[in-house]
Amino acid sequence: MDLEKIKKLQEMVNDSNRIVFFGGAGVSTESGIPDFRSVDGLYNQKYDYPPETILSHTFYMRNKPEFYRFYNEKIMIDGIEPNAAHKKLAEMEAKGKLSAVITQNIDGLHQKAGSKKVLELHGSTLRNYCVECGKFFDGAYMFEQKAAGVTVPKCDACGGDIKPDVVLYEEGLDQNILQESVYELSHADMLIIGGTSLVVYPAAGLIDYFRGKYLVLINKSATARDTRADLVITDSIGEVLSQIEV
Ligand SMILES: [Zn+2]
Repeated sequence: MDLEKIKKLQEMVNDSNRIVFFGGAGVSTESGIPDFRSVDGLYNQKYDYPPETILSHTFYMRNKPEFYRFYNEKIMIDGIEPNAAHKKLAEMEAKGKLSAVITQNIDGLHQKAGSKKVLELHGSTLRNYCVECGKFFDGAYMFEQKAAGVTVPKCDACGGDIKPDVVLYEEGLDQNILQESVYELSHADMLIIGGTSLVVYPAAGLIDYFRGKYLVLINKSATARDTRADLVITDSIGEVLSQIEV
């Protein structure tokens, strides 16, 4: 851990009152959720198609049992808990330092840690809807279906198929969430980007709306925007944020 950089980050946080955090898969992997895009996942040949194909709208429509086989194993991970990064961000919001978390993750861990303003660009596994009658189902219902070995979760009211409220490949992002994200980014005085290499749409384009004072990148590996940042910390997001006092 580079203590000089932690000190600098602390000074930036102290000097900011409208921080926005933009987080990617790395925030969740530290809670034990595998990144399905990782090399490990791709070459773990239990599936006949790459993750991006299975998690597409077309594939969901054509092959729901195979979609859910992958989804239940790689995405719906039971017993996960918020880590130090989620907790510190919730604390920053509670103390009036942070205005929003924008996340590409779909696990609901920010809310579980206590964050209120969470903009979920790719939806949430904890919200699910019957495609026939629209009835809502929470994450617990989906875990029950998974535990019972159901191949395609069904609505308990009409028997229709249930679809997770997550943005699949080929599907558009929620325009309201995008607009709110643009608003928060353009009004932020500090932007902390964590756990993402910034290659996944729409991350790269969205952060261009940031016009504030401090741009900080915290990621285990180098990212596409390293050159523009005021501070780059190549380390675990949880370990870095847990050292910041608010
Ligand atoms: Zn239904």
